[in-house]
Amino acid sequence: MEDVYKWFHAHPELSGAEEQTAKRIRKELERFADWEITPNLGGHGITAVLRNGEGPTVLMRADFDGLPVAEATDVDYASKHSQLNAHGERVPTMHACGHDHHTTSLLGAMTVLDSVRDKWSGTVIALFQPAEEASIGAHGMVADGLTKAVPHPDVCLAQHVVAGPAGTVYTAPGPVMTSSTTIEITLFGRGAHASMPHRSVDPVVLAASTVMKLQTVVSREVPPNKFAVITVASVEAGKANNVIPDSARIALSCRFYDEDLRKKCVEAIKRIVRAEAMAAGADRDPEFKFVGLLGATDNTDEVYDVIRPAFDEAFGEYSVEMEPWTASEDFPVIPKAFGSPYMLWTVGITPRAQWERAETSGRLDIDIPTNHNPGFLPDLSTLQTSTRAAAVGILSCLAHDWPERDTEKPTMGAVPPTDAEIDAVSVETAQVD
Ligand SMILES: [Zn+2]
Ligand SMILES: [Zn+2]
Repeated sequence: MEDVYKWFHAHPELSGAEEQTAKRIRKELERFADWEITPNLGGHGITAVLRNGEGPTVLMRADFDGLPVAEATDVDYASKHSQLNAHGERVPTMHACGHDHHTTSLLGAMTVLDSVRDKWSGTVIALFQPAEEASIGAHGMVADGLTKAVPHPDVCLAQHVVAGPAGTVYTAPGPVMTSSTTIEITLFGRGAHASMPHRSVDPVVLAASTVMKLQTVVSREVPPNKFAVITVASVEAGKANNVIPDSARIALSCRFYDEDLRKKCVEAIKRIVRAEAMAAGADRDPEFKFVGLLGATDNTDEVYDVIRPAFDEAFGEYSVEMEPWTASEDFPVIPKAFGSPYMLWTVGITPRAQWERAETSGRLDIDIPTNHNPGFLPDLSTLQTSTRAAAVGILSCLAHDWPERDTEKPTMGAVPPTDAEIDAVSVETAQVD
């Protein structure tokens, strides 16, 4: 699969614009004569189903979009690709999150499963998902009829590559990835000549005090033993050195494992932003726009209990406990649509020598490129690890006797927020002004 991987890696496409990638996946799928292919689900999404007799139905998902990042690695298959973004600007693109790796491994696992068909029975669904980085790909496939297009899965699986010693497979039950709430806030002031600050309500000063005050949500309102991240990732105001602008814009990225805590923090953010505007003497209330909301990835215990022993057998000492990861995923949208249990595991891809050097010198945080870094580059040997992990994960689930489920209702404990809940938040915030 190495050549296929290198092709994907050299041709990364932005979320929603993965035309050539989808075309190449479909070309690879031509090798699988007995799998039923459904293309163009929710944009460039594709499913492939192999019905191989009685038994459980197992779905495995791989995402395939890239990022607007300029690759800074020196391999001969590094991306030199660029694409127009949503604003019509040409941007460099890179598979900086390893979605090319996920897709290659799922194709590899299909090859394995296809060639040992006499050794298992049941149904396998390979799902290739676009637009994960924009948090809309899984929703898009569900909205376009995914649940009607494929058989009902007894269990859904996914994997993600991460910085970590090459070949390590990380698993854990319960919450492993955070929920994500993205908020864009416009702060309104009053513009004036830069020499006449008394005639203005300065939105730059307002934004500065708001950003500082927001730091107290996690440090002063969240219990010290609970996890929460509130990052103000963007501040924009003003274009000239002699004009006090009339508004400022800040963008927040917030991460949580606990849904009640998420709601509490969102309320605190709204309270602080409004109060700071009032303190500054702004005539107009700030505007809140919720541009993204993803539930936490909360692995079902039962699936972990099936897969972990199989990974221990396959990977020995390289099958280890996963520390919760503060990134977020839209994968749970898929099992949630079916009401199925699910699990996401991660695979370490950093060359071992590089990892050991950084670990010895206490420089892991500095020297090891993480996902989304221009230097993020999986060791090629790990293609085999993630292909095996996918095949072993699917086969162990095919060998398990899954209980009958009420397919009408999700049966999991922590369910990601529903579309209605997302709408409720938007409606509430739209009423602010
Ligand atoms: Zn990513
Ligand atoms: Zn990713």
